Amino acid sequence: MGLDVVWAERWVRRTAEVVAEAKDELTELDRQIGDGDHGENLHRGFQAVVAKLDEPDAAERTEVGDVLKLVATTLMSKVGGASGPLYGTAFLRAAKRSARPEVDTSGVVVLLEAALEGVTSRGRAEPGEKTMVDALTPAVEAATAAAAAGQDPVEVLAAAADAAEAGARATVPMVATKGRASYLGERSAGHEDPGARSTALVLGAARDAALAGPDR
Ligand code: ADP
Ligand code: MG
Repeated sequence: MGLDVVWAERWVRRTAEVVAEAKDELTELDRQIGDGDHGENLHRGFQAVVAKLDEPDAAERTEVGDVLKLVATTLMSKVGGASGPLYGTAFLRAAKRSARPEVDTSGVVVLLEAALEGVTSRGRAEPGEKTMVDALTPAVEAATAAAAAGQDPVEVLAAAADAAEAGARATVPMVATKGRASYLGERSAGHEDPGARSTALVLGAARDAALAGPDR
C-alpha cells in the first residue's frame, strides 16, 4: 500500500498544525543562537500553504508531487531568511521525484533523499555543522535501512521521523559552522538547532499523516 495525494495533503496540514503549536518553541531556540524568527517564518509559510490548499478553484491535484510542489513554491515566496529557500528547495526536489499518484517504500526513500539533496545543494552544509542537515541525514539513512529490511512506507516514515528527532537532539552540543548561528562560534554549543527541530516536526507530521490513513 502506497502513500497517495490524500496522505500528502494530510502531511502538509498536519505540519501546519504542529508548526503552529511549536511556533514559540522554535522562536525561542532561534532566539538563543539566531535572530528569533524561525517559528514565525515557518508558521507564516505553512499557513499560506494551507490557504492555497483550501482555494476552491485550485487545479485538481492527482500526484503526490503536485502537493509538494505547491508547498515548495509557497514557502519560497512567503518565507524569508535561510529556511525559506532551504525548505522550498527540499520540497521542490521531493516533488520532482514524486510525480505519481502514489509513492511506495522505495518512493519514500527517494523523496527523502531528494529533499536532503535539495538542502545540501542550496546550503552546502555537511553533517555536524548544526543545521537541518543533521536531522535530515540520519532520517534518510534510517529510511534506507528500513526499506532494505522490507518495511512498509509507514514504517519507513516512522523510522525517518525517529531518526530526525534523535538527530535534532544531537545538535545540542554541536558548534554551528553554517548559517546565522555560526556567528556565535563556540557559544552556539548547548542549544538545539531550530532548523533541525523543525525538520523533525515536519517528518513527524509525515509519519502521523500516514498512520492516520484509512488502511491502518
Ligand atoms: P535565518 O537564519 O535567516 O533567520 P531561519 O531562522 O528561518 O532563518 O532558519 C534558521 C535555520 O536554518 C537554522 O537553524 C539551520 O537549521 C538552517 N540553516 C541555516 N543555514 C543553513 C545551511 N547553509 N544549510 C542548512 N541549513 C541551514
Ligand atoms: Mg532566524
